[in-house]
Amino acid sequence: MKTIICRHCDMVSHVPNMPSGYVAKCIRCESVIYKNSWCSPSGMLALCLAALIIIVPAFYFPLISIHLLGITEGTNLLQGALMMIDNAPVVAFVVLFCAVIAPTLLISSIALSSACLTFNYHPAYLPKILKITYILKHWSMLEVYMVSLMVAIFKLMNYADLYFGVGFYFFIALLLLNLTIISNYSNHSYWERYINE
Ligand SMILES: [Zn+2]
Repeated sequence: MKTIICRHCDMVSHVPNMPSGYVAKCIRCESVIYKNSWCSPSGMLALCLAALIIIVPAFYFPLISIHLLGITEGTNLLQGALMMIDNAPVVAFVVLFCAVIAPTLLISSIALSSACLTFNYHPAYLPKILKITYILKHWSMLEVYMVSLMVAIFKLMNYADLYFGVGFYFFIALLLLNLTIISNYSNHSYWERYINE
């Protein structure tokens, strides 16, 4: 039995030991207060390493190529964000942070904490990593970028010929891995393992 305070409404709840894959919700605001993930730290480490390998081609190779008036222009995620720096620096920074910097740091921090717990190594900086991971979880928005990209593609289809680049398929793979990692990562159970082991 664990005593957990809801982060959203401060309701104190007593959570019994649950089988893996189950979540406990706050009885007042119904937000998830505890998640017993089916994925162990070693499994999360494998998922994060796969994502970190895919992240390079996903950001580097062209996402889409546009053929208009006899000219074909391809762009990748980084170039797309950097192109906006002159006209809309704030938007460019937000896109760069939420679609590139935050997801990369989030996957790296989960990989680092998973590696520490897998190999039973408890360095002094591990609590800081767990705190940073919790904050970054709210700023990683690859799926929002994907939705905006799809909207742009559907709008541009009427005016120009569009071709999906290699980076697009790597980006889809990265998105799926990222969603699997975030939905299975439990900051609470990582803290528990850090304190108890
Ligand atoms: Zn609550």
